[in-house]
Amino acid sequence: MDDIRIGTAVSTSTGLARGELHVADMPDGAPINIPVAILRGRGDGPTLWMEACVHGDEYCGAFIIHEVLRTVAADDLNGTVIALPVLNLTGFQRNQRTSPFEAFGYGDMNRCFPGKPDGSLTEQMAHVVYGHMKQHADYLIDIHTALTVDVRWALYANAEGEVGDKGAGIARAFGYKSTLPAPMDILGGSALMTAAKDGIPSFIIEAGGIGQAFDRETVTDAAERLRNVMRHLGMLAGEVTDYGPQYDFSTFAWINATRGGLFQPAVACGQRIEEGTVLGRYFDVFGDVVEEPRSPHAGIVLAINCGPLMPTGDILMHLGLNPRDI
Ligand SMILES: [Zn+2]
Repeated sequence: MDDIRIGTAVSTSTGLARGELHVADMPDGAPINIPVAILRGRGDGPTLWMEACVHGDEYCGAFIIHEVLRTVAADDLNGTVIALPVLNLTGFQRNQRTSPFEAFGYGDMNRCFPGKPDGSLTEQMAHVVYGHMKQHADYLIDIHTALTVDVRWALYANAEGEVGDKGAGIARAFGYKSTLPAPMDILGGSALMTAAKDGIPSFIIEAGGIGQAFDRETVTDAAERLRNVMRHLGMLAGEVTDYGPQYDFSTFAWINATRGGLFQPAVACGQRIEEGTVLGRYFDVFGDVVEEPRSPHAGIVLAINCGPLMPTGDILMHLGLNPRDI
C-alpha cells in the first residue's frame, strides 16, 4: 500500500487520515490551509476524489461529504476516498462565492483549473489542489449548491471513449433525473472539464439550497446516492439502486435577468417549459407588475432564482435544452 500525502494528511494504512493542505497565505502571512480527509479502505479499488465549496458559499457539498465520511467504514471500503470539503476556504469564511482576497482576477475557482503557480490567488490555490488531484484521482466528484431546495441536477464531462462512458456510469448510479452529458467545449477552466481532459472521469452535482433553503434531507439523499456510486464502482458491497428514468440534454443555458425588480417566479425546478413560457413577474417598488419575462428556449428548468430582489444581469434560470429520455 503506497503512502498518500496531501499536505499534512498522510495515509499509510487502512483507516481515516486527516490533515491540511497549504494553498496560499493571508495578508498577514498566516497560512490558508484547507481540510483534507483520506479514507483508505481495507480492499483494493479506485481512488474517488470528492470536493466541495469550490464556490465558497455552496456549503451543501461540505455537509454531503461529511455524511459520506460518517457512514462509510474503512473496513467495508475497497479503494480510497480523498475528500476536500472546503476548497475555497476564504470564500467559505465570508459565506461568499469567491475569495475576498482575490484582488484583480474574477476569482471563480471553477474557471481557474488547472491553475497557475504564478497566477492570481485563486489560480494559485487551484494549482496546488489540482496537482494532487491529477496525481491521485481515478474519478472526480465536484459538489455544488444552488439557491433553492428543489435543485437536483448533475452533469458529467462527455469526453470521447472511456472517460465519458465512465462519467455516464457515475451519473446513472447517482440517478438524478436531470443529467447533462456536458459538451467538452463548455465550462472551460472547471475542475470537471480540466480533469476529464487529463483522463479523469468527472461528475458535478448541483444539490439543494443555501440559507433558509438548506435542508438535511437533500444531504442524506445525496450521500446515499454517492454510496450508490461507490457500489457501482465496486468500492462498496451491495446491489446498485436503480433510481429510474432519466433525461439528458444537449447542453444547458444560463438565462440572465434583462431588467431589475422584485421578482416572483412562476416555474419550478424539473418543470418542462416552452419557448415563450412566462417565467415569473417583476414588480416595481410600488408593487405594480412591470414585466413578465418569457423563456427564450424550450427545455427543463434546472434552477430558478427566486429573488425576490433581482438586479439586472443576475442569473434568472438554468435551463436544460433538448431533453431526451434515456
Ligand atoms: Zn458552484
